[in-house]
Amino acid sequence: MKKRIIFATGNEGKMKEVRMILADMDYEIVSMKEAGVEIEIIEDGKTFEENALIKATAIMKETGELVLADDSGLEIDYFDKAPGVYSARYLGEDTPYEVKNRVILERMEGVAEEKRTARFVCAIAAAFPDGMTKTVRGTIEGIIGYESKGENGFGYDPIFYLPEYGCTSAELAPEEKNKISHRGKALQKMKELI
Ligand code: IMP
Repeated sequence: MKKRIIFATGNEGKMKEVRMILADMDYEIVSMKEAGVEIEIIEDGKTFEENALIKATAIMKETGELVLADDSGLEIDYFDKAPGVYSARYLGEDTPYEVKNRVILERMEGVAEEKRTARFVCAIAAAFPDGMTKTVRGTIEGIIGYESKGENGFGYDPIFYLPEYGCTSAELAPEEKNKISHRGKALQKMKELI
């Protein structure tokens, strides 16, 4: 039987990306739901790394298995790096991203291109059954666009414009996004550590 890794997220968009990126590993990647884990975790860390470690460690303790967890978000320089670790909760946890993205675009109206810099950050933590932990980080730089565009990806992808590619990350094919994204880069690093 293949060894397995539990990936600690309830976000289907993320899970899809993670499965694709880790497809060539010698492990079966299972979600929390598939592993039957139902615990409430308070993500009260101040950094992406702290939150990823909180999630990975809590689920490793519950299951005794190797657990990976990510914590990611969008840093907008014009907003002093907000929403950052609060990206999922920004403007309300249950607010649709269509609305969140529209509000961000409105708040950035008239802001010049050079002040629209932003990045996606992803920290991944591994919690091993013997108690050892590791963290890695990946980032991707871009700007907040002037309109929402693209149907791929999830979350803030439609407003995250990549000048080098001439499109938003929601307009990239999933394989393309995974090659260059914060999550793709962090997972590649983590693959080498496991
Ligand atoms: P987390 O689940 O606490 O790590 O929250 C991450 C949040 O950051 C997501 O719910 C999205 O709002 C945002 N985010 C992280 N990665 C991406 C991405 O690749 N595309 C779009 N939004 C992202």
